[in-house]
Amino acid sequence: MAFLPFYISKQKRLEIVIVGGGYAGIAAMTALLKHAPDSCITLIDPRTHHVKITHLHETFRFPLSDLLVSFADIEKRYGCRHIAASVHFDTEKLQLCQQTKQLIINDETIPFDYLLIASGCENRILDHAENVLGLQDFVASAGSELFNRLLASNYQSEQSISVVGGGATGIQFLFEIKQFLSRIKSKASLRLIHSGERVLEQFPRGFDTYVQSRMQELDIAFYPNTYYRDQHSNSILLTEKHTQKHIELSSSLSILFLGKAQRASHIANAFGQILIDQKPLPNIFVAGDCSVYQSVGSNTLTAQSAVRKGQLVARNILRHSGLPGLLEPHLRPDLGYVVSLGSADAVGWIGIENNLVTGLPALTLKELIEAQYDLLLAGIDTYWV
Ligand SMILES: Cc1cc2nc3c(=O)[nH]c(=O)nc-3n(C[C@H](O)[C@H](O)[C@H](O)COP(=O)(O)OP(=O)(O)OC[C@H]3O[C@@H](n4cnc5c(N)ncnc54)[C@H](O)[C@@H]3O)c2cc1C
Repeated sequence: MAFLPFYISKQKRLEIVIVGGGYAGIAAMTALLKHAPDSCITLIDPRTHHVKITHLHETFRFPLSDLLVSFADIEKRYGCRHIAASVHFDTEKLQLCQQTKQLIINDETIPFDYLLIASGCENRILDHAENVLGLQDFVASAGSELFNRLLASNYQSEQSISVVGGGATGIQFLFEIKQFLSRIKSKASLRLIHSGERVLEQFPRGFDTYVQSRMQELDIAFYPNTYYRDQHSNSILLTEKHTQKHIELSSSLSILFLGKAQRASHIANAFGQILIDQKPLPNIFVAGDCSVYQSVGSNTLTAQSAVRKGQLVARNILRHSGLPGLLEPHLRPDLGYVVSLGSADAVGWIGIENNLVTGLPALTLKELIEAQYDLLLAGIDTYWV
């Protein structure tokens, strides 16, 4: 059993329910089991598999199965129980859970000492036609399969593909798609539609110029300040942001990366305990994309922040359950972020936001970050700094 400072166990076997088996939920579970291996953990997630979603754009090169870890395997590996269900919480339900210390799922009552909510943040989905894809389609089938199927069924002599959304996810998909099209020797043209002036606006200046120059080199057309309206059978309808002018372009396929749905998040104190009317629910914690902590630590919607918060709440659950009951605040800033641009290029920052890295060093950094999470899934924690 690993040593955890400021924690003396009261020798009671803890029952912990984790809602959401993504990055934050899995990081919390592994940290709990590291310090208290006899904890009894119930993991609730409607999916059959944990998805290593930060690799999803790579399914133009690798099978989707490479990114999936079945919850049945996770049950065996960690000795936890998985229940396939979706749970939603409002203020009333949270207060009731705190009072009764139980959750009712599929008519079964599950008692707990602590509840952790780590159900992520949903992506914005529009009702869409057959030749429109969104992130959820790539969770169901590999990018290469989807494209082969759709491009064959919607054959035109001059095909064009529209990617909508110039945030990190849209950009990572855009470059993978470009490489995939050249691998299959497709002559389809590729364009990026983006509502902002420049791509990757949430990142420091330098990201945008690097990415936009790479787009130019690769002959990817860029439509900034443009809103997506609709994709019909063979055309895309757009509106220019400033002039409100409507534009119709030929398009065989649109892929939408419209960002996160309005953030259905829970506010927490600096220790990760959910706050209601500014008062903490002592036994209910939150971590990952569905959480906003009132602290100086990172609240970004990133895997890095999700893992750190997951690990922090695991330690705080144990400390709260034992002696002397002192909790640790979330102080950790983001240490960097890398956006991949296909298999051979990337752009990112490390250490401080203005410290820009590009090309091979950035790609290597990205691979190291991903490998760190793979090791965590395999039970080896290398998140020391
Ligand atoms: C394509 C892509 C690339 C990305 N690349 C990067 C990157 O390079 N670096 C980076 O730091 N971040 C990246 N991100 C962001 C990162 O993936 C998220 O910030 C991270 O996954 C958040 O972790 P989480 O545990 O909060 O949520 P998730 O990992 O989304 O997990 C949430 C889990 O909760 C489950 N769930 C959802 N609703 C319910 C419910 N009602 N009841 C029970 N369970 C529920 C879901 O099935 C899921 O398993 C990327 C995201 C995408 C989509």
